Amino acid sequence: MYEDLRIICWPDPRLKKKSKPIDVFDEALQALARRMFVLVRDAKGVGLAAPQVGMNIRMFVMNPTGQDGDDRVYVNPVLSDPVGEEESEEGCLSFPGIHVNVVRNKAIHMSAQDLDGQTIEQTETGYIARIWQHEYDHLNGALLTDRMGPAARMTHRKLLKEMEEHYAAQHPPLPMMKRLAAR
Ligand SMILES: [Zn+2]
Repeated sequence: MYEDLRIICWPDPRLKKKSKPIDVFDEALQALARRMFVLVRDAKGVGLAAPQVGMNIRMFVMNPTGQDGDDRVYVNPVLSDPVGEEESEEGCLSFPGIHVNVVRNKAIHMSAQDLDGQTIEQTETGYIARIWQHEYDHLNGALLTDRMGPAARMTHRKLLKEMEEHYAAQHPPLPMMKRLAAR
């Protein structure tokens, strides 16, 4: 049912929306998670949040090791008890070709639900804690562009401009807006 879903790229406005909590744990949610795992694997990524496929709901999937059996799904995640900070490079499937150094908490706790609505309580450090924080950002509409300092913006300005142009070319303004713009 979700075969048509694709990973969307910045500056698609759906990436900037705050996503809504999930209260129905049904077959459709499972199908969405399955589709997201297919997309994240095809793109050779480690994590993917629902808004990145245009669905503004609070779920993300990840597989930090790339191994079968390590697929993890988090619904309605809440992060708490952050400890320490460290800087490391991050990429994002919605920003192909862009890598940015981002400061994240070293360790963090997550309360969430699984696809059956069962409670998950976990604490992680390092790489996994970083993926959590990156994907959690997506659910609140926060993106790598929001984490970039002026230097990173400068470094990536050409690529970002190209992405804006690409998006504009694929999403021409509606006729009504054209008319308003011409007045
Ligand atoms: Zn991302």
